[in-house]
Amino acid sequence: MKTESFNFDNPIEKSIAGALYSRRFPHAAILEGSSPEERMKLAKKIAAALVCSGAEAPCGACPDCRKASVDSHADILIYSVEDKPKAFKVDTVREIRSKAYIVPNEADRKVFILENSHTMGVEGQNAILKILEEPPSYVNFILLCSSKSGFLPTVLSRSTVYNLGQASAAENETLPREKIIGAAKDITVAVTALDDFEIVKAAAVFEKDSKLLRESLPVIQEIFAQALRIKYSAEEKESEYGSIPADIAPKLSRRSLLELIEATDLLINSVKLNANHNLMVTALCTKLRKAVIR
Ligand SMILES: [Zn+2]
Repeated sequence: MKTESFNFDNPIEKSIAGALYSRRFPHAAILEGSSPEERMKLAKKIAAALVCSGAEAPCGACPDCRKASVDSHADILIYSVEDKPKAFKVDTVREIRSKAYIVPNEADRKVFILENSHTMGVEGQNAILKILEEPPSYVNFILLCSSKSGFLPTVLSRSTVYNLGQASAAENETLPREKIIGAAKDITVAVTALDDFEIVKAAAVFEKDSKLLRESLPVIQEIFAQALRIKYSAEEKESEYGSIPADIAPKLSRRSLLELIEATDLLINSVKLNANHNLMVTALCTKLRKAVIR
């Protein structure tokens, strides 16, 4: 299977090809939108162009292109994880980081393709940030995601985002990160206080917005997970959730926090299975509340 050359009729591919030819392709590129298959196909094309030793990269004929086309180029490293919260582990990010500091084997460049990279938690994103801030000159990162909304602003500011267009109408709309975090914070505080009125009030924002619920659940879970870590180690670095995890940690037992994390896990899975949305909002209130009472 020969690596195709870029499609110049497509404005995004044209702009990517232009950046590659002028050797200005960014060290960190985020490909968002479209389908997972299209994102990966384009990422592999870019990677082949970056390692290609022929004239019109990707030439499709040089040894580098030939190896790239069968996923066996030593300097193209592909990491694929499932599209689920925290699937991209911080340990994997650390491994990528240490590999990035080793010079390429065969080509002039070393390319890392990270599929579903938006599933990195805050810790993972902060770990990748360290290398995005000062990448070795020969390294390129291509981060693939359905939507850039899962990334921290600090990661986005170090990257060039290429939007490949709609995958589906619902997937395409990006929610502001502050909105997701705000909704998640409200519900964690209300649940911790065991204030029924506040719980219902905090959950109201999800009633007409299934996407907000879907994107907030992993954040809710992460806030409880941070609170639990604070309980164990008493030290947790500054996170994008401000003082919330530290505020709720003393108010909840370890057991309650574990149950909250577990309950959120169930909710995340139900949302993924497209459970009835109104029932999901009710389940959010009751399951979290129950985890605190016991
Ligand atoms: Zn080539």
